[in-house]
Amino acid sequence: MREKVRFLGAVVALMLSAGCAPSGAPSGSEAGGAATGTATTAPPQTVSSPAASPAASTATAVPKVAVTLFKNVRIFDGKAEKLTDPGNVMVRGNIIVRVSSGSIETPADADATVIDGGGRTLMPGLIDAHWHAMLVRPPVASLLTADTGYLNLLAGAEATDTLLRGFTTVRDVGGPSFGLKQAIDQGVLAGPRIFPSGAIITITGGHGDFRPFTDLPRTLGGPLTRQETTGASMVADSPDEVRVRVREQLMQGASQIKLTAGGGVASPHSPLDASTFTEPELRAAVEAAENWGTYVTVHAYTPAAIKRAIAAGVKCIEHGQLMDESTARLMAERGIWLSIQPFPDELADAFPRGSEQWQKAQEVFAGTNTAYTLAKRYKLKTAWGTDILFSPGLAKQQGALLAKLVKWYTPAQALVMATGTNAQLLAMSGKRSPYPGKLGVVEEGALADLLLVDGDPIADIKLVADPAKNFVLIMKDGKIYKNTLSH
Ligand SMILES: [Zn+2]
Repeated sequence: MREKVRFLGAVVALMLSAGCAPSGAPSGSEAGGAATGTATTAPPQTVSSPAASPAASTATAVPKVAVTLFKNVRIFDGKAEKLTDPGNVMVRGNIIVRVSSGSIETPADADATVIDGGGRTLMPGLIDAHWHAMLVRPPVASLLTADTGYLNLLAGAEATDTLLRGFTTVRDVGGPSFGLKQAIDQGVLAGPRIFPSGAIITITGGHGDFRPFTDLPRTLGGPLTRQETTGASMVADSPDEVRVRVREQLMQGASQIKLTAGGGVASPHSPLDASTFTEPELRAAVEAAENWGTYVTVHAYTPAAIKRAIAAGVKCIEHGQLMDESTARLMAERGIWLSIQPFPDELADAFPRGSEQWQKAQEVFAGTNTAYTLAKRYKLKTAWGTDILFSPGLAKQQGALLAKLVKWYTPAQALVMATGTNAQLLAMSGKRSPYPGKLGVVEEGALADLLLVDGDPIADIKLVADPAKNFVLIMKDGKIYKNTLSH
């Protein structure tokens, strides 16, 4: 296997040194990363390392480092709730190396691209903290029955669209996204950075268990069903089973682990009020994740499910729409993250009006305002995400759902949440982060994920709802994926 990888690496290096990289493949530092088989976040100093590889040793010139200089931009840095006066930002390889109000000279040894920002806003790429890269486009029925090759291609197309909406990073909280992530990181296709959880881990009948009754009863240790063999969700009904499933996700590169601690809207069998895993089962997951240097996040709406998860050592709650005052207080005391979404009302339309799932959706949506109010009152560490599922139409609203936060936050606070704050949640993965380096900020030393916005998103947050028009340049990991200024 390793030999095969090495061989493919050499082939790619050869292609790149011969200047025949496919048009969609990364340039600059990322190409260097791909050619050597190293992480895409290799520091700029190592960018010229292909020359040391056997395939590239015949090249006479050392490739120049790619440098991009953004001139005359106002900066939203992902932390402060304001824009700077016009200044300049230089990216070298995949790193932001200079941020200055004065002029910046590009180094002589660099292959420099100069972008005149014309006073537009340069900001960090957006981060969606609750995304399911593999589950966004296909309807549920198709997920359970369609050819997996087809589903992977759908997810790939969606990943490219996700990046072109300005989302340079997603935290994937369930679904078989490891292969997609690998292909994106290798430059096979354009897409966001993915922090994968791997399979959603659930109990029999819990949220994420989409098995038909014909698959019952399950024999412990018996054959797996479709949802499990595809890696979408795994059923575990004891601490031992939980440990196995958690460790399998970690083995595949999960940056965090996702369990469903309570009932859910979309799942066919679990009532909303149900608490699912027992505390020892949750603790087994927490132990396995923490031994591996990372953390567990859980899907939970109700106070009971949230409190049990916190007692077991869970560090982040997904949703929390039905929480109450005492739950919010507990989360604040323990420093637990709330990863919550301002769900679009249309999400309920995925279910027949009046159906059980439609009713569950109404109940959850009714809690959104209370949950955000409590999050503000108790100053909870709050991440923003969308949780868009089964709908290419809704996916287009990803940015609009960020703008929806102005019901509770100022536009500047909403933008900080979707950049610098979400990046702090990502940093909880510690050494299991697939992308070492700082994300979500415009500062020297941070990874170069940047958007150039035609306008001031703090003055008009609706700009993020129409990325095709307003994001005139999109950069991820130092590579420009969209630039309408050059036309
Ligand atoms: Zn979700």
